[in-house]
Amino acid sequence: MKLISFEHQGKRGVGALIDDEQVVDLTPVVQLPDMNHLIAVYASKRNEIAQAVATRTQALDAARVKLLAPIPEPRRNIFCVGKNYHEHAHEFANSGFDSSAASGAVPKAPIIFSKPPSSVIGPGQPIDASLDPLQSVDYEAELGVIIGKAGRCTEQDDPTSFIFGYTLINDVTSRGLQKQHSQWLLGKGIDTFCPMGPVILTTDAVPSIAALEIRCEVNGQVRQQALLSALIFDVPTLIQTIGRSISLKPGDIIATGTPAGVGIGFDPPKYLQAGDVVRVLVDPIGILENPVI
Ligand code: MG
Repeated sequence: MKLISFEHQGKRGVGALIDDEQVVDLTPVVQLPDMNHLIAVYASKRNEIAQAVATRTQALDAARVKLLAPIPEPRRNIFCVGKNYHEHAHEFANSGFDSSAASGAVPKAPIIFSKPPSSVIGPGQPIDASLDPLQSVDYEAELGVIIGKAGRCTEQDDPTSFIFGYTLINDVTSRGLQKQHSQWLLGKGIDTFCPMGPVILTTDAVPSIAALEIRCEVNGQVRQQALLSALIFDVPTLIQTIGRSISLKPGDIIATGTPAGVGIGFDPPKYLQAGDVVRVLVDPIGILENPVI
């Protein structure tokens, strides 16, 4: 199922997107227009949600709703993974921009950092490049994993049982700030630098992600293209790495890293400029498109 957060006639809702044509408003079923809440109650409301979708109860024309980020207000920072594709790890190591303690090519353990909730924007909303004082804005197409279960993930737990679904994230980055401040939060936490969406695809619709391809296009030109099976640390490993000691919560988001082809991989770097349009694509999750201003 494709789950969305949306606005319709000035009101916010949560719903299911059907064939990209209709939106079944699930707000009356879960009683709050809040995706964090929907995720938390999803298992207990599964039958009512399925029935609303089957009968097209409260169906709206998809063209008449405004899509928001599926989780417009994450309850806490988005967990992110650095250098999680081999070719990108080499590309970043060779770019001269990796001033972190984990500099070097391929990491021995996952590099985890975070982006604040205030960086999140939805499909179609502009990335404000003017907020980077060093004019070094770069794109990073990433698979986002949405957590559906609370608790720590011990060695005895199945990490896949924590996965609620998947979305797309553009881990937009000021390379200048990333380099200048060693730690990555300032370079990656800027307002509007976390486009997310267009939907959350629940795990029942995509049993395995390995064969899916992620792509990034800038003004229609393909810059990044890789199979998700190329992740150095796969999704279960990432969940166990984070959840071993940090209690996970329904609605947590993990951005799983980006493949080769980012702007600093080019000589000279191809930074994003006002007027550009960036698209992150994974079929069947959809297309996350954002203009740059
Ligand atoms: Mg990234």
